[in-house]
Amino acid sequence: MDIPEGYWGIYKDKENMPLERFDPFRTIINEFGTKVGHITQFSPLRGIRPFEHRENNQENTEISSPADDSFCKIIRGDLPAVVLSLGKQVGKHPLSVKSEKTNLCKYSAISIVNLFTPMARVLYEHTQSLDLVQDKSVGIGIVHLITNHYDTLSETSIRETVDLLLTTQIAQKNSIQVLKEKYNTNRLTTLHFFNIGEEAGASICHLHSQTYIYANDIGHGWTSLGFLSVPGFHKKKMENENYCLACELVKNREKLKDPIEQELIVEERIVFENEGWILLTAFAPERDGQLRLIPKKHTSKFYELDEKQIYDLAEALVVANKALDKFVKMAHPSMNLLQDRNILFRQENVGYNSDMHMLIDIIPIQRIGGAEIMETYRIATMFPEDVAKIMKEE
Ligand SMILES: [Zn+2]
Ligand SMILES: [Zn+2]
Repeated sequence: MDIPEGYWGIYKDKENMPLERFDPFRTIINEFGTKVGHITQFSPLRGIRPFEHRENNQENTEISSPADDSFCKIIRGDLPAVVLSLGKQVGKHPLSVKSEKTNLCKYSAISIVNLFTPMARVLYEHTQSLDLVQDKSVGIGIVHLITNHYDTLSETSIRETVDLLLTTQIAQKNSIQVLKEKYNTNRLTTLHFFNIGEEAGASICHLHSQTYIYANDIGHGWTSLGFLSVPGFHKKKMENENYCLACELVKNREKLKDPIEQELIVEERIVFENEGWILLTAFAPERDGQLRLIPKKHTSKFYELDEKQIYDLAEALVVANKALDKFVKMAHPSMNLLQDRNILFRQENVGYNSDMHMLIDIIPIQRIGGAEIMETYRIATMFPEDVAKIMKEE
């Protein structure tokens, strides 16, 4: 087999395999027996992957690129890929080593294995034994694409966005199933996100989202631990096993206080809502202009969303991205905000019973300083209720 080492997460030599290290001064083992701390993943072969972005020295904030990137070439059948889902259809086995050149234009959205996947997906020969790879990163890295060429989620149609989300669910579900069986584990860490624009970490300009699913004991960072632990804290504090802050917020926007007694000024922060979702500016934003999407029905995981929720999410995502475009354009230059952004699906990891209510954060790139790197802390200049006003203005 002549697949270059590491391509599509296929490794022959254990020495080349990605691994993680935890910061020894900020990692603990929690009550579930998993590590929680700062994680650095080393993926040495990833360093040589190409970056495909046009030269852009203009002041122009509009992003638009020609349709000649690697993803367009895969879709036209000019480059090989391991296709995991085609629209609502299941593709190759998630651990397949068969890449193919196929014309995929007739599908509006697909999922493929990440060519420069950050973890090992398939192991060969002497690396096959799992106890040899305990400290290595294993799992599946997936790229989800709309086959038409777009740079941002503000340009897509709702129909294509629905198709992208549906094909993402199929690829995630199958990969989770396969990893559970192969590694005989119930616990998986799922990271699902969009990087939109070069400064947000996208190496290819063609709009795409990604899912990293880890099957080894990668544990959690402190951020995930926060999201997973808070529901239990809230229930205890409110002395109510059924309490969920997000569900409260959906039905009661007037004078809503959270369990630590903050008045959440919900009404003023709402930018948009439909039957399935509520879109609001974040109460304590990580970057100016941060938006947060909350499903109205209590749901813990992205792949558990039903078709109606997916349709409404697609609409809300397009509205949210346009609202953020507008805010970034109008924001004072001293805010150092860029159109590039990340979209983060904050959800319960597989195998946890946290009763977490999933959230989606849309966070623009903004220059930050030392204080903000030192802590999960930030200094903002604008209140989210005022940001929402600008986003909503006709
Ligand atoms: Zn493209
Ligand atoms: Zn809830």
